[in-house]
Amino acid sequence: MSTPTIGVLALQGDVREHLAALESLGFAHRAVRRPAELEACDALIVPGGESTTMAKLAGIFELLEPLRKRVDAGMPVLGTCAGMIMLADRVEDGVVGQETIGGLDITVRRNAFGRQVDSFEGDLEFAGLDEPVHAVFIRAPWVEAVGPGVEVLARVGSGEAVGRIVAVRQGPLMATSFHPEVGQDVRIHRIFCDLVVSATGR
Ligand code: GLN
Repeated sequence: MSTPTIGVLALQGDVREHLAALESLGFAHRAVRRPAELEACDALIVPGGESTTMAKLAGIFELLEPLRKRVDAGMPVLGTCAGMIMLADRVEDGVVGQETIGGLDITVRRNAFGRQVDSFEGDLEFAGLDEPVHAVFIRAPWVEAVGPGVEVLARVGSGEAVGRIVAVRQGPLMATSFHPEVGQDVRIHRIFCDLVVSATGR
């Protein structure tokens, strides 16, 4: 049977890098800008970028409600950075009226690592991986609080933000504060693809 098709929400942000990661793993993939394109996907990646812009565009492109319906129906979704914010049920330091797709029972804090720390990199232990992940953070959120059904996959290992939650999973929803699509390491995409295969049975 064919592999499932994984969409990348292509309203804004680092779409190409995610498509390339899916390509290298041999998964069918497509950019998603319209409800009909979402329909054709079995799972979705919501990329990094700017969550306020992405949410506005999702409204304009009439994707917000279809996205919420698919998440409610159990579609697997990986959100990275702004994508994590888009999946969160609650946002701290959002703009007034900032909408999200929601579904993930977490509170995220936008731009949590401080204005002066625009971006940084570090090695992280990641649940299920033997070797640490080299994580790139760009004006990243962290997870301030998680609901009971949420598994923590990674925390900051050192420095001022030590212990802060930066990767989570709740059923078919997965999110990272950092950008696994940057660089050649596709292990986190592989974890997501495995999740997609087990969730969709394909
Ligand atoms: N700070 C951005 C936001 O609020 C996220 C940054 C990113 O995705 N690299 O959406």
